[in-house]
Amino acid sequence: MGDDITTYDYLIIGGGMVADAAARGIRERDTAGTIGILSADTDEPYTRPALSKKLWTDPDFTWDQVPLNTVADTGAELRLNTLVTRIDRFSRAVETGDGELVGYRRLLLATGSTPRTIPAPEGDDRILAFRSAEDYRRLRELAERGGRIIVVGGGYIGTEIAAALAQNGVETELVFADATLGASQFPPALAERYEKLFVDGGVDLVPVRRVEEIRAEGNVLHAVLDDGQERAGDAVVIGLGADPVVDLAVAAELAIDDGVLVDEHLLTNDRSIWAAGDIAEYPDPILGRTRVEHVDNANEMGEAVGRSMAGEETPYSHTPYFYSQVFGTRWEAVGTVDASCDPLTVDLGDDRAVVYYRDASGAPVGVLLWNVEDARDLARAVLVDRETSEDALRARIR
Ligand SMILES: Cc1cc2nc3c(=O)[nH]c(=O)nc-3n(C[C@H](O)[C@H](O)[C@H](O)COP(=O)(O)OP(=O)(O)OC[C@H]3O[C@@H](n4cnc5c(N)ncnc54)[C@H](O)[C@@H]3O)c2cc1C
Repeated sequence: MGDDITTYDYLIIGGGMVADAAARGIRERDTAGTIGILSADTDEPYTRPALSKKLWTDPDFTWDQVPLNTVADTGAELRLNTLVTRIDRFSRAVETGDGELVGYRRLLLATGSTPRTIPAPEGDDRILAFRSAEDYRRLRELAERGGRIIVVGGGYIGTEIAAALAQNGVETELVFADATLGASQFPPALAERYEKLFVDGGVDLVPVRRVEEIRAEGNVLHAVLDDGQERAGDAVVIGLGADPVVDLAVAAELAIDDGVLVDEHLLTNDRSIWAAGDIAEYPDPILGRTRVEHVDNANEMGEAVGRSMAGEETPYSHTPYFYSQVFGTRWEAVGTVDASCDPLTVDLGDDRAVVYYRDASGAPVGVLLWNVEDARDLARAVLVDRETSEDALRARIR
């Protein structure tokens, strides 16, 4: 390796939530080492959940609360609009889109996820696969223009964006595959309650349909459904889930399964390369080997990976929770939330409920907390104890 390239003690690929937390984790143990962050994003690291929730629903939450202030707080050098195209493990350098080499002593892969999409006219800026701050700004512009926005997909992003738009007075239509919104996650009675939030909130629901493609005809966009029907709108937001960005890791021949495989120190099979966040498949002490695309995971694993890169030897042991919030209803969960996993619902009154999802042996594999606060540790304990008696489960979280 020549001396003419910049080499960082810690180099992070990706400028998202993990990058921010990792830089902070590094600084907990190493106040002097140089940290470089190479990010394909146009914005410095920011709090992503706000893009589909608080920025739309909380008038006191303004744009200045979105950036995470990574550079100011950690002294990391951040390069934006910089796509890393290759990792050279042999010379310990990465290459950027414009051919520059950047060296590393310790490297972190934190490339997050990329939203899935469907066939649509290329480059049409009225169609968004929603993920970034730039997408948020663009959707705001589209929302302010008036007209009708079609949201595709009944998962987290689709439901949160549909709720956000409707709460901001935008004519909104939500197309989703389930018979009742949320039915693949929640038991029937809860899915009905969930769906009612959207009906009452003024969202037009189009159930049991998938959008196969988007067509543009003059000023109008058409979402073509799987039964041949077409829905017309002025803009389309696609919320069909996301895939982990593992292309660099694959090309560098790191071990991969559902994501980049890491051990309990968040190290890959290359002892100079760590991975964390949406892309990392890690050994969770409660859930087993898993990959989690949620923010608690990004924050906790991010800080832990930073500490690990800086020499900390304590194994990573946090089991993440995840959450969503629409129309003032907040749900949180730990583990598997899948309506096909024999859900046991305990109604706590006041629109509060707990759902225990169970495997074939009757042991809980996931806990959903519907408008129930401060019970994440109790939920984790339920998954550790694996009690199978219904009465015992019912008594666990009240
Ligand atoms: C709109 C939205 C709302 C969300 N809300 C919630 C929520 O309410 N609750 C919850 O639990 N989770 C939520 N999440 C999920 C959560 O935000 C993610 O799990 C978290 O951001 C993952 O962090 P990460 O650093 O792994 O990836 P990201 O934050 O996605 O960051 C990845 C970064 O890597 C960059 N990158 C990718 N490839 C390259 C490359 N080759 N070179 C350089 N840079 C690259 C990207 O540009 C990006 O900056 C939400 C996600 C979105 C999109």
